Amino acid sequence: MTIEPTLTDMNTIVSLAKRRGFVFPASEIYGGIGSSWDYGPLGVELKRNVRDAWWRAMVQERDDIVGLDSAIIQSPLVWEASGHVAGFTDPLIECRSCHRRYRADHIEKDLCPDCGEVGQFTEARQFNLMFKTFLGPVEEDAAVAFLRPETAQGIFTNFENVRTATRKKIPFGIAQTGKSFRNEITTGNFIFRTREFEQMEMEYFVRPEEGFASLEYWRTERMRWYTDLGINPDRLRFRQHDQDELAHYAAAVYDIEYLFPIGWSELEGIAYRGDFDLRQHQDSSGRKLEYFDDERQERFIPHVVEPASGVDRCLLAFLVDGYTEEEVNGESRTVLKLHRDLAPYKVAILPLSRNQKLVPKAREVYDIVRKRWMTDYDDSQSIGRRYRRQDEIGTPYCVTIDFQTVEEDDAVTVRDRDTMEQVRVPIAELGALLEDHLTG
Ligand code: ATP
Repeated sequence: MTIEPTLTDMNTIVSLAKRRGFVFPASEIYGGIGSSWDYGPLGVELKRNVRDAWWRAMVQERDDIVGLDSAIIQSPLVWEASGHVAGFTDPLIECRSCHRRYRADHIEKDLCPDCGEVGQFTEARQFNLMFKTFLGPVEEDAAVAFLRPETAQGIFTNFENVRTATRKKIPFGIAQTGKSFRNEITTGNFIFRTREFEQMEMEYFVRPEEGFASLEYWRTERMRWYTDLGINPDRLRFRQHDQDELAHYAAAVYDIEYLFPIGWSELEGIAYRGDFDLRQHQDSSGRKLEYFDDERQERFIPHVVEPASGVDRCLLAFLVDGYTEEEVNGESRTVLKLHRDLAPYKVAILPLSRNQKLVPKAREVYDIVRKRWMTDYDDSQSIGRRYRRQDEIGTPYCVTIDFQTVEEDDAVTVRDRDTMEQVRVPIAELGALLEDHLTG
């Protein structure tokens, strides 16, 4: 058996995602609406598993971080204080020849990617990325509101509420996942850059002198999260932002980049934001957002380190990284080598055929297993094809019910996705074996 992992191109992933029900183009029956995507039956599971894995690492397994779910629509004053109304912009340029618009920092050598003309771009003007809307039935300036472009500000505005409610002492963090919206000038590359996306952000509040050490700590932690979930470390790297590229709030930023089919690109940003956000909100709201350290009898505005990742981008990285084409005994197979915590289905129950004797037994096993794990049931076509279908969607274990099961031993065959090894286990021990393999 030879195993040759291959580097995947984006079209292969887009097509697998559509064919198997991970991601569909939004509004497809109306011709689509570029850059919006719907998550199908497998995509919604994978997405939830990515989010849950993040929550487990960032909240559930830690003493020092608590969760939050703040509103998408906040007071416009929040976005004024945070600097987003004035400064959350990208440089917009237009090609005079084909009238297409681009983000200036995405263009190389003054060359229009669409019509190929050189030097035809207009001067860059700053384009605000926030989606504007109106609250209630009046479309006037007084009713303007924005869809949040990041989840972080809801955390800062609740800093005092959370601290008082939980009595957390510094250092501590507040984590949140949820939708954010950016009217990106150019979208594309599948779900890599869209206008509606889901973020996973955590604001970690520290003493001012501990900011840079905390940045280092979170760099390591966050990189480990990706490799623990099976991402190939050779396709991950850090990139530190140059001084002139730093966002308006940031003292230092590292991106975790992944080698996507489009090249090295940001998967997560880890920013040391200093006391910028809390200070801005304190100044603008008039409410004190200081922290009192009762041991040292000191009052100060905490500094913040923020790891900010995206559910959709992570999902794309996990799909790309897990996608494998292998040669097995002269035949090729496609396997999605997703970490067991991420796989949409953990187990598939496969009766050898639709035989009247096998189906009731298979349903019985299915009913036991599905109570604990997300489980698929498939009795169509040959067993070989069904294995291949489960491999392609990343199901770690297939459980086969055959005539020996019902006539002789009340045992089933459990097949491992990656090694393709099969073991025979009594049905009475199946639960324990799966528990061990899927969590142990
Ligand atoms: P870029 O420079 O690529 O526009 P950014 O540096 O503005 O991105 P952040 O504000 O750091 O992005 O956002 C944190 C994370 O949120 C990103 O690392 C990414 O995973 C996700 N994200 C940001 N914008 C988008 C988007 N338009 N589509 C999908 N995910 C996004």
